[in-house]
Amino acid sequence: MTDYAIDVPPVVALPIADSQTQFPVRRVYCIGRNYAAHAIEMGHDPDREPPFFFQKNPNNLDPSGEFPYPPHSSDVHHEVEVAVMLKSGGTNIAIADAEAHVFGYALSLDMTRRDLQGAQKKMGRPWEIGKAFERSAPVGPIHPVSQTGLLNEGPISLRVNGEVRQEGDMNQMIWKVPEMISYLSEYFELAAGDVILTGTPSGVGPVERGDTMELSAEGLGSFTVKVV
Ligand code: MN
Repeated sequence: MTDYAIDVPPVVALPIADSQTQFPVRRVYCIGRNYAAHAIEMGHDPDREPPFFFQKNPNNLDPSGEFPYPPHSSDVHHEVEVAVMLKSGGTNIAIADAEAHVFGYALSLDMTRRDLQGAQKKMGRPWEIGKAFERSAPVGPIHPVSQTGLLNEGPISLRVNGEVRQEGDMNQMIWKVPEMISYLSEYFELAAGDVILTGTPSGVGPVERGDTMELSAEGLGSFTVKVV
């Protein structure tokens, strides 16, 4: 047995709906500007330019249903997204083969310190300080594809305190799930445990402590996250 110099960090694992087993996480990729209406609201051209990705850390994923308002920001935004969990991977995966690697899907939030992200964008610097902070990606229970079927269309929405803030349809994604998997696999080796956040529809905006966010999407039910 390996003798480790420090305590081994915990494995990040996410609950699976109606199951006692959990899904261990390896990496987290997030796509930017993947719904045209959101690209436009952020001041960008929605044309199909090549996709771009950033990463969060596995232990930024948080299934607890609570989102602690993070420090050093006064403009923390919600971005409701469908997360795709992979059961296998590889490199140079063809689009036609990509969905065979999907384990399941979950509702998630790409919570963003928009003020810090904006400052980084202006300076041409990386986004981690705005995106990859503690508990920045609340995530609901995983629904295996064996139960949901492939999810490429259907409504996705976010309510804050009962009021609809974000509404879209998964069929509005500029880059579809199989295309994202294929593209990422050309640049990285994908593997079991990888998670892809597939982008947010329009209507992103700030939250405050005490707000209740209700995520929902076709096939994934709903998931509630309280800002604390
Ligand atoms: Mn996002």
